[in-house]
Amino acid sequence: MIRVRFAPSPTGPLHIGGVRTCLYNYLFAKQHNGKLLLRIEDTDQTRFVPGAEAYIVESFKWLGITFDEGVHVGGKHAPYKQSERMPIYKKYADELIAKGWAYYAFDTPEELEAKRKEAEAEKKTFQYDMNTRTVMCNSLTLSAEEIVEKLRGNYVVRFKYPENTEVHIYDLIRGEVRINAQLLDDKVLFKSDGLPTYHLANVVDDHLMEITHVIRGEEWLPSAPLHVMLYKAFEWQAPQFAHLPLLLKPDGNGKLSKRDGDRLGFPVFPMQWQDPTSGEISSGYRESGYLPEAVNNFLALLGWNPGTEEEVMSMEQLVTRFSLEKVSKSGAKFDLDKAKWFNHYYIQQKTDKDLATLFAQQLAEKNIHTNLEKVEKAIALVKERVYFTTDIWNQSAFLFQAPETYNPEVVKKRWKEDTPVHLQQVINILFSVTPFDKTVAHDTVVAFIQENQLNMGQIMNCLRLALVGDSKGPDLFEIIDFIGVEETNGRIGMAMKRIAL
Ligand code: GLU
Repeated sequence: MIRVRFAPSPTGPLHIGGVRTCLYNYLFAKQHNGKLLLRIEDTDQTRFVPGAEAYIVESFKWLGITFDEGVHVGGKHAPYKQSERMPIYKKYADELIAKGWAYYAFDTPEELEAKRKEAEAEKKTFQYDMNTRTVMCNSLTLSAEEIVEKLRGNYVVRFKYPENTEVHIYDLIRGEVRINAQLLDDKVLFKSDGLPTYHLANVVDDHLMEITHVIRGEEWLPSAPLHVMLYKAFEWQAPQFAHLPLLLKPDGNGKLSKRDGDRLGFPVFPMQWQDPTSGEISSGYRESGYLPEAVNNFLALLGWNPGTEEEVMSMEQLVTRFSLEKVSKSGAKFDLDKAKWFNHYYIQQKTDKDLATLFAQQLAEKNIHTNLEKVEKAIALVKERVYFTTDIWNQSAFLFQAPETYNPEVVKKRWKEDTPVHLQQVINILFSVTPFDKTVAHDTVVAFIQENQLNMGQIMNCLRLALVGDSKGPDLFEIIDFIGVEETNGRIGMAMKRIAL
């Protein structure tokens, strides 16, 4: 049985790169009829941010990414939050010490700092490893009595890489990676306050939770040798590893950061987030009018492709097509236009009725109450211009209220001295079409303009200007049909008054 996990630390809002990691885990699990777990890794209490865990849970709910076990749904390995599993880890640290795979280190922060300075003076960097551990204050250099004495105070447990060892990591995306253990530092696994570090808790939990595949971001590749060695030390079967490529900024190189999002105008978080300390708000895909289907689809393609030209894929299709072999080794560039394109596509796939239900809520917030049928009709008129659900209002406001301003450029270009006279004639024609029919109205107005040899572009544009306030929008006679001839008359009168030459 395939078992994978997403193991975020609740240190703030979930970055979109983390969402992609979880999505790949989800696709992989579903494809193999396996299980996906959500484990919260909060061993570092100094970085804990209130609200972050709830945010993570809510984000995946919105995206439709479901978990079989986890902090919010429970499961056979509960609890799934490391701060609630604290009593578990100590015995594993003790086991490593007993087996000679770890040792106690008593060096004070001041002593470590002095070593760093010393190395710096020689233009080197200090590393606590097999070359330096022999001259430091630890259970490898002190006598048995000294150790007993020192264990009363503060200490840490460090991993002891064996000498003359090459660590082999087999990564499903990158192939074999070999690292000489001599280069690796003896990472801290456990502290005297009784808390494990990320490395120990992560490996112990992956083992206890029967994780078969660790699929995570490339930033964890440097930790992989330690994790592989920990499995060896515990004599546990290691899971398979797959380190996903980074998400890169759209322009240039480097990891996609929140600042790139602010700079280029797109969210880097699934949902809006308000920093609990500073109150600063970061935008999210949900609030920016993206559909979850679109987010899942474009995220899936950032670093993976199905090996065909196929781009639009539902979650079910992604599940069948996904494979770790087709995940690329190099970073994936975030492409805002593509994200927009996907969202536009998925909005077009929604029925007018679905969008109307959503839009009716937005209208209600603006105190505009109208029946759903009417809202549905409005959707049908503007849908193809809608890229984000938040666009609907911008594209259709004139269907529900008269314009308050008139685009000055259009006024300047189109509104002439004789415009009011012609618009008055047009309105008379519109009133004469009873019952109102948009096709008849259109043909009659066009015939009138042609017979009188008037300027078609000018009249139609001025009519649009009076109704919409701009030169945009759907077919004019559709608009008139929607708002009615009375309202059209009122708006023309208002435009005449307001647009003084
Ligand atoms: N807690 C780590 C994180 O925040 C998990 C890394 C891993 O998947 O091993 O991403």
